[in-house]
Amino acid sequence: MNKEAIIQKEKSFLAGTYTRFPLVISRGKRCTVWDSEGRSYTDFVAGIAVCNLGHANQRIADTMYSQAKRLIHASNLYYTEPQTLLGEWLIEKSFADRVFFCNSGAEANEAAIKLARKFFKDHGKPERFRIITMEGSFHGRTMATLSATGQDKVRKGFDPLLEGFDIVPFNNTEAIDNAINDKTCAIMLEPIQGEGGVRCPSRSYLKDIREICNEQGILLILDEVQTGMGRTGTLFAYEQFGVEPDIMTLAKALANGLPMGAMLATEKVAKAFGPGSHASTFGGNPLVASVALCVLKILFEDNVLRHCQETGKYFKDRLDGLKLKYPFIIKEIRGKGLLLGMEIDGDGSSIVNSCMERGFLINCTQRNVLRFIPPLIISRDEIDDLITCLDQIFKEMVEDR
Ligand SMILES: *Cc1c(COP(=O)(O)O)cnc(C)c1O
Repeated sequence: MNKEAIIQKEKSFLAGTYTRFPLVISRGKRCTVWDSEGRSYTDFVAGIAVCNLGHANQRIADTMYSQAKRLIHASNLYYTEPQTLLGEWLIEKSFADRVFFCNSGAEANEAAIKLARKFFKDHGKPERFRIITMEGSFHGRTMATLSATGQDKVRKGFDPLLEGFDIVPFNNTEAIDNAINDKTCAIMLEPIQGEGGVRCPSRSYLKDIREICNEQGILLILDEVQTGMGRTGTLFAYEQFGVEPDIMTLAKALANGLPMGAMLATEKVAKAFGPGSHASTFGGNPLVASVALCVLKILFEDNVLRHCQETGKYFKDRLDGLKLKYPFIIKEIRGKGLLLGMEIDGDGSSIVNSCMERGFLINCTQRNVLRFIPPLIISRDEIDDLITCLDQIFKEMVEDR
């Protein structure tokens, strides 16, 4: 089918939930994708921080094929080996003692919200069910997770929302102190706000929150759906902030593009999920679990985390160079590892389109923050090419003024 026919059919038959670019992506390799007409694009979006090991990775493809021939799905009525081994890996590499597998970020956050409530029910404090979340946050699109999300555009039109979320300004511990009461069961936040515009916490923010949680006897839930799985240069972002959560959620890059989510928790908290309390039909099935295991193996065997740290630093330095050159267009460069944002003065969509015309996919969030979330295997040469492209675009913007 040609490009126009695909776009036409999509507009006729698909729910109108997405504003898509007029681009039909038909294949990929490493950090490059090709459209239906054979044009190539260097991919600084990676399926929104999903394809951390790039596209068409041979080991992942082989793992999928051999697992698919053996067993795709069995249901959680039975034990399966890949799920068990993946659980062991994640526990070994994190603060957590227990993991629950599901299929998306929203679903992982649903599990976290349910677990926090159940924990206090089990401890004879049923009145403690409220969760403090942050302005500018993003936790998903299901009823509970959009109710937790601190962005009106996500919540609008879906009243009545789920009760029990108190939304406070990000990076402000005083606001948390004021919002906490004897009904609070948890504080839930992203270590770095991704969709919210790559907003980073101040130095001691997460530590201060951990302290507040300890003092109040409430739980800390970190949503690492975007920041986890190496995106910020460590397997999990919390490692860089000197804190450990009680509950953490993962999804996006967990299985490099197969739909998978996970909710991890300490033994003490996870106890509240007993037999029959929560479930997912597909969660952690042999196919996705074997791919996630393969992803973890590659992350460690190929030193991908160190590459992410070094390349991320290089990328950030180059973006800082652009900021020095175009101080009237670029307001701030921020982020960690390969989760980087460039706040610009004005709307970013024309820059995204110009990049696409020149063969680069980048993302814009919150209207004025260009977000760079390439596969973690991106090379300096590919970064240099993007910087040259952006330099050219900014130069033309200055000339047009
Ligand atoms: C993408 C994202 C989600 C939602 O994940 P879905 O798989 O789309 O449900 C939740 N939290 C954060 C931080 C995310 O970036």
